Amino acid sequence: MHTPRVCKILKVESEAENIKTIYFKDRRTSSRIIPGQFIMVWIPGLDEIPMGVSHTGLNSELAITVEAVGEATEKLCSLKEGDVIGVRGPYGRGFSPPGLNNLIIGGGTGMAPLMPLIELCVREKINVNVLLGGRSLNKTPFIKKLRDIFNPKLECFKVTTEDGSYGCRGFVTDLLDEIISKNSFDRIYACGPELMLKKIYDYCTEKKLPLEVSLERYIKCGIGICGSCYIGSYRVCADGPVFKIAELEKIRNILGEWTRDSSGRLIQL
Ligand SMILES: Cc1cc2nc3c(=O)[nH]c(=O)nc-3n(C[C@H](O)[C@H](O)[C@H](O)COP(=O)(O)OP(=O)(O)OC[C@H]3O[C@@H](n4cnc5c(N)ncnc54)[C@H](O)[C@@H]3O)c2cc1C
Repeated sequence: MHTPRVCKILKVESEAENIKTIYFKDRRTSSRIIPGQFIMVWIPGLDEIPMGVSHTGLNSELAITVEAVGEATEKLCSLKEGDVIGVRGPYGRGFSPPGLNNLIIGGGTGMAPLMPLIELCVREKINVNVLLGGRSLNKTPFIKKLRDIFNPKLECFKVTTEDGSYGCRGFVTDLLDEIISKNSFDRIYACGPELMLKKIYDYCTEKKLPLEVSLERYIKCGIGICGSCYIGSYRVCADGPVFKIAELEKIRNILGEWTRDSSGRLIQL
């Protein structure tokens, strides 16, 4: 698990502006990964960074969906078919198995680790509703993939964009009240910007709903040793990245308020 594997890139797709989906094969990961777990991706000569897995397919095929935000992710997004990356993992705690009726909420590239969970629900014919939020049509990943997955049950998939260029205008959290009042969900899963997660956490706490969220912090070792990803008393890499609502209670004053920079210093979000 900890030994890095060198994987050849099979295909690169443009997912949205500055967002690429990179396909490769890794039997070690594909044979044991649980949706929501992450892998450490080594970009030769540069860095190693945590990434969610956004697709698990047949014959050990996997994908990561990367938003270019800095040096490592920009380099990853520039890689082409035939180039190589290193992979170790899968690491961390993933999402609980889906219930009978599930709601999945993703903000931007935060939808990446939720995609295998959606694929699982659709494959196993488990009820699932999906809310996807983004800034605008061309900056929001997975719209086309999710439309294809949900067609013809498109009423189960709703999109919001902040500029109104696709779906409903506004934030994904604006749709919470309507969907929750019409359904009874036994699992709600979310991943995305921390302010979005904080709003969902507050809402689900008030309504006593069963929420699980995937959090992001600077992860360096990926295996719970270095401490760079502490949030309260949790190490995101080893205790998370998925946390249940009862666990979030202990870090509710940090959630959406504080993060850490690459040196571990606390910074306000
Ligand atoms: C468990 C986990 C899963 C992730 N999955 C994905 C994924 O599927 N797709 C994806 O595009 N990204 C994902 N990320 C975030 C990704 O790892 C960071 O964007 C990446 O490490 C940034 O590296 P960089 O050198 O490109 O940018 P840097 O130069 O290191 O940083 C650029 C900017 O991004 C911010 N940043 C860097 N790392 C993080 C982080 N971990 N959390 C929040 N902000 C950060 C910095 O504050 C800075 O503003 C994940 C992170 C974690 C912890």
